[in-house]
Amino acid sequence: MLDAVVSLLYPPRCLGCQAFVHTDEPFCRDCARAVKPITSPLCLRCGIPFSPQSSLDHECGLCHKVPPLFRHARAWAHYEYGAGALQPVSAAIQQFKYQRNLGVGKLLAHLAATHFPFGATHYDVIIPVPLHLDRLRWRGFNQSLLLSRAIGHAHQIRVDPFLLARSRPTVPQVQLTEKERLENVKGAFSVPKPEHVQHRQVLLVDDVYTSGATVTECTKALLHAEARAVDVFTVARAV
Ligand SMILES: [Zn+2]
Ligand SMILES: [Zn+2]
Repeated sequence: MLDAVVSLLYPPRCLGCQAFVHTDEPFCRDCARAVKPITSPLCLRCGIPFSPQSSLDHECGLCHKVPPLFRHARAWAHYEYGAGALQPVSAAIQQFKYQRNLGVGKLLAHLAATHFPFGATHYDVIIPVPLHLDRLRWRGFNQSLLLSRAIGHAHQIRVDPFLLARSRPTVPQVQLTEKERLENVKGAFSVPKPEHVQHRQVLLVDDVYTSGATVTECTKALLHAEARAVDVFTVARAV
Protein backbone atom coordinates (compact mmCIF):
# COMPACT_ATOMS: atom_id res chain seq x y z
CA MET A 1 0.00 0.00 0.00
CA LEU A 2 2.88 2.31 0.84
CA ASP A 3 4.32 1.70 -2.64
CA ALA A 4 0.98 2.63 -4.20
CA VAL A 5 0.79 5.85 -2.17
CA VAL A 6 4.37 6.77 -3.06
CA SER A 7 3.82 6.20 -6.76
CA LEU A 8 0.62 8.29 -6.57
CA LEU A 9 2.54 11.16 -4.96
CA TYR A 10 5.69 10.68 -7.04
CA PRO A 11 4.70 9.02 -10.32
CA PRO A 12 7.68 7.26 -11.91
CA ARG A 13 9.66 9.26 -14.47
CA CYS A 14 11.87 8.18 -17.33
CA LEU A 15 15.54 8.12 -16.29
CA GLY A 16 16.55 9.77 -19.53
CA CYS A 17 14.06 12.56 -20.28
CA GLN A 18 12.17 12.75 -16.94
CA ALA A 19 8.80 12.27 -18.72
CA PHE A 20 6.19 10.43 -16.66
CA VAL A 21 6.07 6.71 -17.42
CA HIS A 22 3.24 4.32 -16.69
CA THR A 23 5.26 1.17 -16.17
CA ASP A 24 8.10 -0.08 -14.00
CA GLU A 25 10.49 0.31 -16.92
CA PRO A 26 13.38 2.70 -16.20
CA PHE A 27 13.14 4.47 -19.58
CA CYS A 28 10.27 5.71 -21.76
CA ARG A 29 9.92 3.98 -25.11
CA ASP A 30 11.95 6.59 -27.05
CA CYS A 31 14.77 6.68 -24.50
CA ALA A 32 14.88 2.87 -24.24
CA ARG A 33 15.49 2.79 -27.99
CA ALA A 34 18.26 5.42 -27.66
CA VAL A 35 20.25 3.53 -24.97
CA LYS A 36 23.42 2.20 -26.58
CA PRO A 37 24.77 -0.83 -24.69
CA ILE A 38 28.43 -1.71 -25.28
CA THR A 39 28.67 -5.15 -26.84
CA SER A 40 31.23 -7.31 -28.64
CA PRO A 41 33.35 -6.86 -30.67
CA LEU A 42 35.37 -4.92 -28.10
CA CYS A 43 38.92 -4.56 -26.75
CA LEU A 44 39.68 -7.45 -24.40
CA ARG A 45 41.57 -5.10 -22.08
CA CYS A 46 40.00 -1.62 -21.96
CA GLY A 47 36.58 -2.63 -23.30
CA ILE A 48 36.33 -0.03 -26.07
CA PRO A 49 33.85 -1.26 -28.68
CA PHE A 50 34.98 -1.78 -32.28
CA SER A 51 32.87 -1.27 -35.38
CA PRO A 52 30.45 -4.17 -35.91
CA GLN A 53 32.39 -5.12 -39.05
CA SER A 54 35.42 -6.31 -37.07
CA SER A 55 34.75 -9.89 -36.15
CA LEU A 56 36.11 -10.92 -32.77
CA ASP A 57 37.14 -9.32 -29.48
CA HIS A 58 40.83 -8.45 -29.53
CA GLU A 59 43.29 -6.00 -27.99
CA CYS A 60 42.99 -2.42 -29.32
CA GLY A 61 46.04 -0.61 -30.72
CA LEU A 62 46.40 1.59 -27.68
CA CYS A 63 46.32 -1.29 -25.16
CA HIS A 64 48.75 -3.19 -27.36
CA LYS A 65 51.17 -0.24 -27.29
CA VAL A 66 50.69 0.69 -23.62
CA PRO A 67 49.16 -2.25 -21.71
CA PRO A 68 46.78 -0.91 -19.03
CA LEU A 69 47.54 -1.61 -15.37
CA PHE A 70 44.07 -3.05 -14.76
CA ARG A 71 43.28 -6.48 -16.15
CA HIS A 72 39.90 -5.79 -17.79
CA ALA A 73 37.62 -2.76 -17.95
CA ARG A 74 33.99 -3.12 -18.96
CA ALA A 75 31.02 -0.78 -19.08
CA TRP A 76 27.33 -1.20 -19.64
CA ALA A 77 26.51 1.66 -22.03
CA HIS A 78 27.93 4.48 -24.13
CA TYR A 79 28.50 7.83 -22.43
CA GLU A 80 28.34 11.13 -24.25
CA TYR A 81 28.98 14.57 -22.87
CA GLY A 82 29.02 18.11 -24.17
CA ALA A 83 26.37 20.14 -25.97
CA GLY A 84 23.24 18.80 -27.62
CA ALA A 85 20.59 16.34 -26.53
CA LEU A 86 22.09 13.86 -24.14
CA GLN A 87 21.96 10.15 -24.63
CA PRO A 88 19.54 8.75 -21.95
CA VAL A 89 22.17 6.96 -19.85
CA SER A 90 24.38 10.08 -19.85
CA ALA A 91 21.40 12.22 -18.85
CA ALA A 92 20.59 9.83 -15.99
CA ILE A 93 24.19 9.88 -14.72
CA GLN A 94 24.21 13.67 -14.75
CA GLN A 95 20.89 13.78 -12.86
CA PHE A 96 22.41 11.45 -10.28
CA LYS A 97 25.76 13.22 -9.89
CA TYR A 98 25.07 16.89 -10.42
CA GLN A 99 21.36 17.23 -9.53
CA ARG A 100 21.98 14.82 -6.63
CA ASN A 101 18.90 12.81 -7.63
CA LEU A 102 19.08 9.69 -5.45
CA GLY A 103 15.94 8.16 -6.98
CA VAL A 104 17.67 8.15 -10.37
CA GLY A 105 20.82 6.81 -8.70
CA LYS A 106 18.91 3.90 -7.20
CA LEU A 107 17.56 2.87 -10.60
CA LEU A 108 20.97 3.29 -12.24
CA ALA A 109 22.53 1.14 -9.54
CA HIS A 110 19.92 -1.53 -10.23
CA LEU A 111 20.74 -1.38 -13.96
CA ALA A 112 24.48 -1.58 -13.19
CA ALA A 113 23.91 -4.73 -11.11
CA THR A 114 21.73 -6.25 -13.85
CA HIS A 115 24.29 -5.61 -16.57
CA PHE A 116 27.34 -6.61 -14.51
CA PRO A 117 29.45 -8.64 -16.97
CA PHE A 118 31.99 -10.36 -14.71
CA GLY A 119 31.56 -13.55 -12.69
CA ALA A 120 31.10 -12.79 -8.99
CA THR A 121 33.36 -15.61 -7.79
CA HIS A 122 36.40 -13.81 -9.20
CA TYR A 123 36.44 -11.06 -6.61
CA ASP A 124 37.37 -10.80 -2.98
CA VAL A 125 36.14 -7.25 -2.68
CA ILE A 126 34.50 -4.35 -4.53
CA ILE A 127 36.17 -0.97 -4.02
CA PRO A 128 34.35 2.17 -5.18
CA VAL A 129 36.46 5.01 -6.61
CA PRO A 130 36.60 7.35 -3.60
CA LEU A 131 35.58 11.01 -3.52
CA HIS A 132 37.55 13.67 -1.74
CA LEU A 133 35.85 14.82 1.46
CA ASP A 134 35.05 18.26 -0.03
CA ARG A 135 33.16 16.70 -2.91
CA LEU A 136 31.48 14.19 -0.61
CA ARG A 137 30.26 17.05 1.61
CA TRP A 138 28.80 18.88 -1.39
CA ARG A 139 27.11 15.85 -2.95
CA GLY A 140 26.16 14.12 0.27
CA PHE A 141 26.95 10.68 -1.14
CA ASN A 142 29.54 8.88 -3.23
CA GLN A 143 27.80 7.75 -6.42
CA SER A 144 30.36 4.97 -6.94
CA LEU A 145 29.65 3.54 -3.49
CA LEU A 146 25.90 3.40 -4.22
CA LEU A 147 26.63 1.55 -7.47
CA SER A 148 29.07 -0.79 -5.69
CA ARG A 149 26.51 -1.66 -3.01
CA ALA A 150 23.90 -2.64 -5.60
CA ILE A 151 26.40 -4.81 -7.48
CA GLY A 152 27.74 -6.33 -4.26
CA HIS A 153 24.25 -7.10 -3.01
CA ALA A 154 23.11 -8.67 -6.29
CA HIS A 155 26.26 -10.76 -6.78
CA GLN A 156 27.25 -11.51 -3.18
CA ILE A 157 30.55 -9.63 -3.23
CA ARG A 158 31.81 -7.71 -0.21
CA VAL A 159 32.06 -3.92 -0.64
CA ASP A 160 34.67 -1.93 1.26
CA PRO A 161 34.82 1.83 0.66
CA PHE A 162 37.67 2.32 3.14
CA LEU A 163 40.40 0.41 1.31
CA LEU A 164 41.17 3.24 -1.10
CA ALA A 165 41.40 6.94 -0.21
CA ARG A 166 41.60 10.11 -2.25
CA SER A 167 44.49 11.88 -0.61
CA ARG A 168 44.03 15.23 -2.32
CA PRO A 169 41.18 17.07 -4.06
CA THR A 170 41.07 17.04 -7.88
CA VAL A 171 38.95 19.03 -10.32
CA PRO A 172 36.23 17.15 -12.26
CA GLN A 173 37.90 15.26 -15.12
CA VAL A 174 35.13 16.17 -17.55
CA GLN A 175 36.47 19.73 -18.02
CA LEU A 176 40.01 18.64 -18.89
CA THR A 177 42.05 17.53 -21.87
CA GLU A 178 43.51 14.03 -21.85
CA LYS A 179 46.96 15.23 -20.74
CA GLU A 180 45.48 17.40 -17.98
CA ARG A 181 43.43 14.44 -16.78
CA LEU A 182 46.55 12.39 -16.18
CA GLU A 183 48.21 15.25 -14.27
CA ASN A 184 45.04 15.98 -12.32
CA VAL A 185 44.74 12.52 -10.75
CA LYS A 186 48.45 11.63 -10.55
CA GLY A 187 49.21 10.31 -7.06
CA ALA A 188 45.73 11.32 -5.85
CA PHE A 189 44.89 7.89 -4.37
CA SER A 190 46.37 5.87 -1.55
CA VAL A 191 45.74 2.61 0.28
CA PRO A 192 45.59 3.27 4.03
CA LYS A 193 45.90 -0.40 5.05
CA PRO A 194 47.88 -2.27 2.37
CA GLU A 195 47.61 -5.56 4.29
CA HIS A 196 43.81 -5.54 3.61
CA VAL A 197 44.40 -5.33 -0.13
CA GLN A 198 47.43 -7.60 -0.47
CA HIS A 199 46.78 -10.73 -2.63
CA ARG A 200 43.13 -9.72 -3.18
CA GLN A 201 41.25 -9.78 -6.46
CA VAL A 202 39.69 -6.35 -6.62
CA LEU A 203 36.76 -5.02 -8.61
CA LEU A 204 36.99 -1.25 -8.92
CA VAL A 205 33.65 0.50 -9.58
CA ASP A 206 33.02 3.98 -10.94
CA ASP A 207 30.15 5.72 -12.73
CA VAL A 208 31.90 6.74 -15.95
CA TYR A 209 35.08 5.74 -17.76
CA THR A 210 36.31 8.63 -19.89
CA SER A 211 40.06 8.56 -20.54
CA GLY A 212 40.70 5.82 -17.98
CA ALA A 213 43.04 8.15 -16.05
CA THR A 214 41.14 7.91 -12.75
CA VAL A 215 40.79 4.13 -12.67
CA THR A 216 44.42 3.77 -13.80
CA GLU A 217 45.64 5.85 -10.85
CA CYS A 218 43.43 3.87 -8.48
CA THR A 219 44.78 0.62 -9.93
CA LYS A 220 48.34 1.88 -9.53
CA ALA A 221 47.76 2.49 -5.81
CA LEU A 222 46.07 -0.93 -5.38
CA LEU A 223 48.84 -2.82 -7.20
CA HIS A 224 51.42 -0.91 -5.17
CA ALA A 225 49.67 -2.39 -2.12
CA GLU A 226 50.12 -5.79 -3.82
CA ALA A 227 46.55 -6.47 -4.90
CA ARG A 228 46.61 -9.61 -7.05
CA ALA A 229 44.60 -8.10 -9.91
CA VAL A 230 42.20 -5.22 -10.53
CA ASP A 231 39.22 -5.25 -12.90
CA VAL A 232 37.13 -2.17 -13.59
CA PHE A 233 33.38 -1.84 -14.08
CA THR A 234 31.62 1.43 -14.90
CA VAL A 235 28.00 2.12 -15.77
CA ALA A 236 29.04 3.99 -18.90
CA ARG A 237 32.05 4.65 -21.04
CA ALA A 238 32.99 7.50 -23.38
CA VAL A 239 33.71 6.06 -26.80
ZN1 LIG B 1 12.56 9.23 -21.87
ZN1 LIG C 1 41.98 -1.34 -25.39
